[in-house]
Amino acid sequence: MTHDIVIRGAKAVLEDGIRIVDIATDGERIAAITDAGAAPSGHREIKADGLVALPGLIDMHSHHREPGFSHKEDLGAIGRQCAAGGVTTSVAMPNVSPPPTTAKNLDDMLELYRERSMVDYNVNASGVELDEIPKLAERGILAFKIFMVVDTGRSYPHMPGIGLHKHGELYERMKAVKATGLPLMIHPHDQALMDAIEREYWDRGERDFRAYARAYAHDDGVIWDTAVAVLLRLQEATGVRLHLLHTQTRRVVEMLRAAKAAGRAVSAEVNPWCFWLGNDWANIERLGSYALSYYVAPHHSEAVYAGFRDGTVDIMATDHAPHLREEKEPGWKDGWKAHTGTPSEQFYLSLLLTDVAAGKLSYERVAEATATTPAKLFGLYPRKGAIRVGADADVVLVDPAKRRTITDADVLSKCGWTPYAGRDVRGLPVYTLLRGEVILDDGALAVREGYGRQAVRADARVLTT
Ligand SMILES: [Zn+2]
Repeated sequence: MTHDIVIRGAKAVLEDGIRIVDIATDGERIAAITDAGAAPSGHREIKADGLVALPGLIDMHSHHREPGFSHKEDLGAIGRQCAAGGVTTSVAMPNVSPPPTTAKNLDDMLELYRERSMVDYNVNASGVELDEIPKLAERGILAFKIFMVVDTGRSYPHMPGIGLHKHGELYERMKAVKATGLPLMIHPHDQALMDAIEREYWDRGERDFRAYARAYAHDDGVIWDTAVAVLLRLQEATGVRLHLLHTQTRRVVEMLRAAKAAGRAVSAEVNPWCFWLGNDWANIERLGSYALSYYVAPHHSEAVYAGFRDGTVDIMATDHAPHLREEKEPGWKDGWKAHTGTPSEQFYLSLLLTDVAAGKLSYERVAEATATTPAKLFGLYPRKGAIRVGADADVVLVDPAKRRTITDADVLSKCGWTPYAGRDVRGLPVYTLLRGEVILDDGALAVREGYGRQAVRADARVLTT
C-alpha cells in the first residue's frame, strides 16, 4: 500500500513521549505512526531527520479583524501567518463589526470564514445577549467570550455592546452559558476600580504610554486580582466552566491553583506578551504603545511562568491583535488613544521553542499547552490536538537548530510590524500540515483561501445554515 504523505524520521512529540518515527497520512487523517523507516512508501515523502514534529497549534484567542476591520488584517493575512507559525486552528474573538452577539451575526461571520478561511477556525461568540446564548451555542462554537472591560477614551478594541462587568449581569450570563455546557472565556477587569485609578493619572495630567501601562498595572495589578476573585466566586455559585484570559499576576496564579485544588471547573491562558514583551519595562520605553498589550512586572511574569510550566496556567493562546502604525502612534502622547494589543500569531511558536532551546520549557509542555490541552478543554480532542492515529493530520515540523532574527520585513500581517523585531529566536517551523494538506512547504507558503473548516466539538449538534 502507498500512503498519501509519509513524514520520515521525525522526532515526534507524542502523547506517550518523544520518539523518532514515521508519520503516514491518508486523506485528512493520520493513518499510521511507525518506527522510523518502517512505514510503507508515500506518494509524497517528507524527509524529517533533525526535525521535531509537534501537533498543529490550536490558538483559542486570536483577534481576526473580519468582518469590519479588514484594514488591520484580513483572513488571507491571518491564514498566511498561521501556516508560517505552525497554527492549524485559529479561533476568532468577537470584537468585530457586526459582532457575533446574535445568531444572525454569527451565521454571517461563519459563512465568511467558510468561504475564505485558509486554516481551521471557529468563533468565540459574545455571551452578552442573554436570549441569544442558547441559539449561539447551536452553531458549533467552542466557547463564549465576555469582556469585562469597556474602554474609556476610545471605541476600540473594546467597543460598547460586547462588554459587561456588573456582577449581577455576569451572574446571569454565567448561568445561561452553564446551561449550554460550553466554557465561558472572560477577560477579567475591574471596571469600577479602573475608573478611579484612571482618574488619579488623568488628574495629574499623566496620559502618555507610560501612564497607561502603569494604570493597568497599578497597585501591583489590583484590577486583575479583584476581577478574578469575583469571577472565581461567581463560578462556584453558578458551576459554569470558566476560562480566564490574560493571566498576568502572581495572585491570579495563586487563586487559580487554589480553585483547581478544590476541584473547580476553571482553566486559564497566558499570552506571549506576558513572557517576552510586556514584562520588560525597557521594551515599553523603546516601543511605547507598540509593546502594549499590558505591562507585567517581572515578579508577576515569573510567577505566571512557573504556573505555566506546572500546568496551573493551562494553555498559551496568542491574543494576536494587529493594529496599524497610525493606530499605535497616538499612544506616545496619549496611551488611551492608541488601540491596545500586539500581533503574535506568526512568531509565538518560535518564541516558545527558543525557551525550549534554553532549557526553560520541554517540548512535551509546549505540545500540551498549545495543542493537546486546548483541544481537551474546548472539545476538539481526540480529533485534533495530538499526533495520534485517526486524528486530523495537523502537524508542524520545526527545525530546532534554525536561528533567525525577527524583523518587520518578515511580517505577514497587514499591520507590517511586530513588537518582536530584533529578537533572536531559535527553532522555526519548516512544514505545516493541516488535515493532510501541506500548507507550509519547506518554508514556503502553500495555503489557499477556503480550505479552512469550522473546527467543531466532537459531540456538537450543529445547525447547518
Ligand atoms: Zn484578546
